[in-house]
Amino acid sequence: MLRIANLTAHYGAAQALFGLDLEVGKGETVALVGANGAGKSTLLKCLMGLVKPSGGEIRLDGELVSGRPPAWMVRRGLALSPEGREVFAHLSVEENLELGGLALKLPKKELAAGKQEVFARFPKLQERRAQLAGTLSGGEQQMLAMGRALMARPRLLLLDEPSLGLAPLITDEIFAIIHQLARAGTTILLVEQNAARALSASDKAYLLANGRIVEHGASADLLGDPALRAAFLGAA
Ligand code: ATP
Repeated sequence: MLRIANLTAHYGAAQALFGLDLEVGKGETVALVGANGAGKSTLLKCLMGLVKPSGGEIRLDGELVSGRPPAWMVRRGLALSPEGREVFAHLSVEENLELGGLALKLPKKELAAGKQEVFARFPKLQERRAQLAGTLSGGEQQMLAMGRALMARPRLLLLDEPSLGLAPLITDEIFAIIHQLARAGTTILLVEQNAARALSASDKAYLLANGRIVEHGASADLLGDPALRAAFLGAA
């Protein structure tokens, strides 16, 4: 479904990505793990059209999409739950969800149906539908960010650091939801600093260091590799 070839990205003169190759197949959950500053968010931003790649290709089902603007990417089936959640604090839960469907210009009926689907998956959001997003807990805000992305009915859901700053029990809850989404057939690219969790939750994984893919393979194999465990998983 997604094929990235020789992708490079720069911030001014500084190069952040150095010729990445990566593939995500339909229905797969693929993890992208690596330390702070490895380039994980930059890759997702390139996919969403938030950062313009300086070279290489991004293809979705064969179509060349690199360099297109974000709203176009959303209409082509990509949606991002960003690092730090970035919910609209002064809008209600329901309004945040509606914004997630904005780029699709859905008729009211379909928008309402989309919200019902999200509420079915995240009952906590339904309970708090009228509450201001800024007053939600961290875990609830993460659910809202994911729900908002799902409102765009993505073919490929991009999750940037869904567990960041959350207590272990809440992280368990978020990963259970990711697992449910995957089982329902959603294709997911999951970015995480928590490599052990990401590998446990995915089919295959890419390890990124200093803007380069240094290893990739079946997540179960990577989890079991002693050298990788020492290098990437640390005490995790
Ligand atoms: P983190 O988990 O901390 O977000 P990351 O793996 O997602 O890490 P990126 O945020 O993609 O890493 O950053 C990759 C590199 O690009 C880093 O060296 C970072 O300092 C640099 N970078 C990221 N955003 C910008 C920006 N807006 N301007 C300049 N440099 C940037």
